[in-house]
Amino acid sequence: MPHAVARLRAARLARSSKPFLARGGFKQERCVGCRLLPSHCLCALRPTMSTRAGICLLMADIEPLKPSNTGWLVADVVADTFAFGWARTETDPALLALLSDPQWQPFVVFPGQYAAPERVVHAVPPPDASADGLVKRPLFILLDGTWAEGRKMFGRSPYLDALPVLSLAPERASRYQLRNSGRDDHLCTSEVAALCMGLAGEHHAAQMLGAYLDVFTHHYLCAKNQQPVAWEGSAHQGLRDVLSPPGHRSLGNRYSS
Ligand SMILES: [Zn+2]
Repeated sequence: MPHAVARLRAARLARSSKPFLARGGFKQERCVGCRLLPSHCLCALRPTMSTRAGICLLMADIEPLKPSNTGWLVADVVADTFAFGWARTETDPALLALLSDPQWQPFVVFPGQYAAPERVVHAVPPPDASADGLVKRPLFILLDGTWAEGRKMFGRSPYLDALPVLSLAPERASRYQLRNSGRDDHLCTSEVAALCMGLAGEHHAAQMLGAYLDVFTHHYLCAKNQQPVAWEGSAHQGLRDVLSPPGHRSLGNRYSS
């Protein structure tokens, strides 16, 4: 079954009357599984894993259509990824049901300076049984769009107003090369998800998201520049190291088959 972002993309495509042409993108046929040219397909490497923490993507209108969207990569890696299109005037009942599901503790991930101080947290509390005896799983709500769209989503979504705001302090500038936000402290969605997973103690998932983003970027740029994939290059080596760390050299069949 296609993941949450793939389903959202298909629904968004079905609603549009004219075909979406990515700005500066390539117009040839794309793989429906990874959005890349078939010659640079990434689908055989998709490293889906189960995590205690989940990700909920609120996506600006055309974000699911952009080939450079990295929320897609989050859904490739994190099995419990949910994705909803955002609109000011209507809210998907399934989103509200998810946010009120007692198994989850939702956090809105957004810079703390835009929220009331009493809502802001900088860490994810350790697992703790709540009043009803349930140990809640962290659910990170990421606002996936441009910075202006993110501000709008944060300010005009009443169902987010009561939730804690997780404010991240990135230790390094974004490495994402496919978009330039104009500010190097703006991380892409997949980088934000990796930081959240790290805060939740999910270090393997955090490393996987980072390595997989590097591989996606490599394939994307090679396709754009009509170059072959460097299967022995640093991006693929990085993903291999996360899949089977040095010292545990029993590679999975993704690379050996
Ligand atoms: Zn593919």
